[in-house]
Amino acid sequence: MSIASQQPNQRILILGGDGFCGWPTALHLSDAGHEVIIVDNLSRRMIDVELEVESLTPIRPMSERLAAWREISGRDIGFHRFDVARNYQRLVNLLCEFMPDAIVHFAEQRAAPYSMKSPAHKRYTVDNNVGATNTLLAALVESGLDAHVVHLGTMGVYGYGSAGMKIPEGYLKVHVETEAGGMTTDEILYPAHPGSIYHLTKTQDQLTFAFYNRNDGVRVTDLHQGIVWGTQTEQTARDERLINRFDYDGDYGTVLNRFLMQAAVGHPLTVHGTGGQTRAFIHIQDTVRCIELAIGNPPAAGERVRILNQMTETHRVRDLADRVAALTGATLDYQPNPRVEAVENDLHVANDTLIQLGLRPTTLDTGLFTEVTDIAARYAHRADTRRIVCRSAWRADRQVPDVETG
Ligand code: NAD
Repeated sequence: MSIASQQPNQRILILGGDGFCGWPTALHLSDAGHEVIIVDNLSRRMIDVELEVESLTPIRPMSERLAAWREISGRDIGFHRFDVARNYQRLVNLLCEFMPDAIVHFAEQRAAPYSMKSPAHKRYTVDNNVGATNTLLAALVESGLDAHVVHLGTMGVYGYGSAGMKIPEGYLKVHVETEAGGMTTDEILYPAHPGSIYHLTKTQDQLTFAFYNRNDGVRVTDLHQGIVWGTQTEQTARDERLINRFDYDGDYGTVLNRFLMQAAVGHPLTVHGTGGQTRAFIHIQDTVRCIELAIGNPPAAGERVRILNQMTETHRVRDLADRVAALTGATLDYQPNPRVEAVENDLHVANDTLIQLGLRPTTLDTGLFTEVTDIAARYAHRADTRRIVCRSAWRADRQVPDVETG
């Protein structure tokens, strides 16, 4: 693999480019000189309406976002509003017209708690996520283009806990006995161990990518991403109209951002179970940089799906809560764990490839915590504290009691 090779001025299609990771990625790539088009059906904004919650930050409608970016950068980003899972022909037509060199695929329902809310939410998440990935790949094959697909997968496909072993980048080396009694070595996809319906869809995506890669030669990089924290990137911070979304509610609020926001609004930090779960993390600024590195270093023709672990550090949830509490004076509120998972786990992860390609990790330090608490404090008046606690449960017996904590 070439190291940090540069391929300037690519045409890049960003599916799901209105979301938390997609919007800053679109701006970052546009700023770097690439020609960018976003496709998004705005389903995430409609889920906010369903859940009766809004991004803590005042995100602007897409047309305002794009006009602000044009004014500030002098650069245009195109936008098409349609459902990637259900508008096959529109996607084929767009691919044939735009002829992208790379396609970044974020267009999936991404919250594990939301995917476990009800049978309807389970079915929606599977139909949407598995459908979007298959529709994209079938359309790409029909278009005849050799675009590089960069998909945002999750560290959660590995399950949590690897019996002291370092989780490799996607493939596990196995030594098996042959029928003749000798030994042979192979590399297989790391055994999938999804912990929610959402994670199940990401493990299914892996098989879909492997199939189209083997059958049709589609070049794919699957980024197994950790939990993203932080809010702003260099570009989204340039103007308030470009601000990134900040989810704090019980379904979409990811753990570290939720703690920082809870501290800023004077809500106890809600720790599920013993807080002994170890998770992988990455800052949003590193997310956009990793995607740029992946695009700049596409797999060669005939190469198997490239899987990179896109995370920079691991932390135990209660240690994070303690750290935020020490910084802010917040108190901790231990709650029943709505998930079905190990009470405690260790996590060791190989992330060598992105580091070799040039990623310089942004680590959790007090300065960065302050960036998020500042954002949270500035927009605290927009918070609805009734929405902070997670009400989605993995099983009926895991339901968190419906009491006000704010
Ligand atoms: P998000 O919900 O903020 O963004 C996803 C975007 O995709 C939304 O704008 C939504 O409207 C759009 N979308 C969903 N289904 C679509 C469809 N069928 N057609 C068109 N658009 C559709 O989520 P995010 O946090 O930006 O995550 C993006 C990707 O990164 C997801 O696939 C997620 O699984 C992955 N990821 C995120 C995190 C994290 O911490 N945020 C961690 C690991 C992996």
